[in-house]
Amino acid sequence: MTDTPLTKSCGDCGMCCKVLHISELNKDAGVWCGHFKKGGGCGNYEARPSACRTFTCLWLTSDKLGPEWRPEKAGFLMYAKDDGKRLNVVVDPGKPAAWKREPYYSRLKQMSQRAYDGYELMICVGDRRIVMFPSEDVDLGVLNTDHKVVSGYVERDGAQVPFAMVLSDAE
Ligand code: SF4
Ligand code: SF4
Repeated sequence: MTDTPLTKSCGDCGMCCKVLHISELNKDAGVWCGHFKKGGGCGNYEARPSACRTFTCLWLTSDKLGPEWRPEKAGFLMYAKDDGKRLNVVVDPGKPAAWKREPYYSRLKQMSQRAYDGYELMICVGDRRIVMFPSEDVDLGVLNTDHKVVSGYVERDGAQVPFAMVLSDAE
């Protein structure tokens, strides 16, 4: 376990102010928050909602991700969900192929090795969902936000075969 590096700061990144859905602000994913000022950060800092106060992307806390992983530069941000069982990679819809570039793609593939242990690496491009496995990327297409995804491995002819599917609408 590593300590949180103190050398990183958001600066004028603001990627989370664009790509995330923030219900308290009625802000859709993929559009800039009206409070964000380029070069000036949050214009609503004191009154920003709890979703903004509590959000921390993976780059900010990881000492294993260099400056090229700064979300503004990478074109996507990453954060853990479901008690760390899922890593969401949320891509700037203005750069939908950003996650496929190097050095990102190869490193994401390495991270996806954890799928063997039940973890899920989910690429989110707008409402499109792609589950990444070490051997393949399963593109589930555009999903309703109420849809749930399940993924993992099944045994077929003695081999472990990855699967990802839309389970159902949430009740
Ligand atoms: S995406 Fe990460 S580095 Fe960028 S502003 Fe949000 S928390 Fe800070
Ligand atoms: S309120 Fe501030 S921190 Fe929250 S999304 Fe808007 S600009 Fe970003």
